[in-house]
Amino acid sequence: MSLTVERNPSESLARALLSQGVSRRDFMKFCTAMTAVLALPVRYTPRIAQALETAVRPPVIWLNFQDCAGNSESFLRANHPTVSELVLDILSIDYQEVIMAAAGHYAEENRLNTMREYKGKYIVVVEGAIPLADDGIYCVIGGHTAIDILKETAKDAAAVITAGTCSAYGGIPAAAPNPTGAVGVRDVLNNVPLINMPGCPMNVQNLTALIVHYMTFNSLPAVDHEGRPLFAYGSRIHDDCERRAHFDAGQFVEEWGDEAHRKGWCLYKMGCKGPQTAHNCSMVRWNDGMSWPVGAGHGCVGCSEPHFWDTMGGLYERLPHVQLPVGAEVTASQLGAGIVGLAAAGIATHAVASGIRAKLDPIDREVTKVEEKMP
Ligand code: SF4
Repeated sequence: MSLTVERNPSESLARALLSQGVSRRDFMKFCTAMTAVLALPVRYTPRIAQALETAVRPPVIWLNFQDCAGNSESFLRANHPTVSELVLDILSIDYQEVIMAAAGHYAEENRLNTMREYKGKYIVVVEGAIPLADDGIYCVIGGHTAIDILKETAKDAAAVITAGTCSAYGGIPAAAPNPTGAVGVRDVLNNVPLINMPGCPMNVQNLTALIVHYMTFNSLPAVDHEGRPLFAYGSRIHDDCERRAHFDAGQFVEEWGDEAHRKGWCLYKMGCKGPQTAHNCSMVRWNDGMSWPVGAGHGCVGCSEPHFWDTMGGLYERLPHVQLPVGAEVTASQLGAGIVGLAAAGIATHAVASGIRAKLDPIDREVTKVEEKMP
């Protein structure tokens, strides 16, 4: 996918998609899919379609700091162009250090021109942590430190989106002993709207949905206490996991490759962090919706949680401070309730029902908020 498509700011997203060979039917299918990812009722699909047909596309400046560039890779690795990819392509990403054609001073000019021309209207996507130790010398681009570039670029942005756990919370670069003093964007920016899209990497479908929400409602979606949009992080991996019935039944994999593993039983004992991790991985999935880590037989590592590397135990160790449920449904409810702060703890409700409620309550609030803005 090229990120150097010539941008015509007055051209609507729908028109740009059509000019790229996307049919009207595919465009409507895309709007329906985005409605689903945003966890909105299907009646919002025409509203989204109408908005995308007329909305002006926001310019995007994508900054890469201290990370593996995995978030850039995640949408570059697709096998064939999808509407989602085209949306990100056509969004007019004016500056992307990893893959842009321009280099050196020309590249920096792109960034500065976009900032000048679209003051207050452009979106900044940040990938990677920001090192603060020793005056920020551990990440320097064009003679400027990451922290200086971030503050300069974000100053007049309409919004800042963190792509991946490193930019959201510091991620792996901030893992103990954190020799470079790495931090997340939220630790250094407090004067601009900020949305965290953690994950290692972030799921590009969620980024697309976030942009679509912004273009449709001219506002950012409701977020949780970690600054993550509720549509993508409003429920736990555990609540929507296809292995959940085995958890409730006390059926666990005990060893990699054993009979239980082959049968697709629960990976909790193998270190799955799903009960403490908020993300919609199981719903949106990866590789064109083909699969996701737990579906492929590996436990969730908790990558969308702050400081997961230091606080959730080893990749293959059971979650600390949580007792293994002994096949009791009430115990499963308590497990979830204790983690997400629901008042359902101790209520003898079916565990799966508790999971559904954990997902719907914040989404309901989000829908209510959106409906209040509707004409
Ligand atoms: S512990 Fe992991 S594998 Fe088991 S049900 Fe929960 S999320 Fe799925």
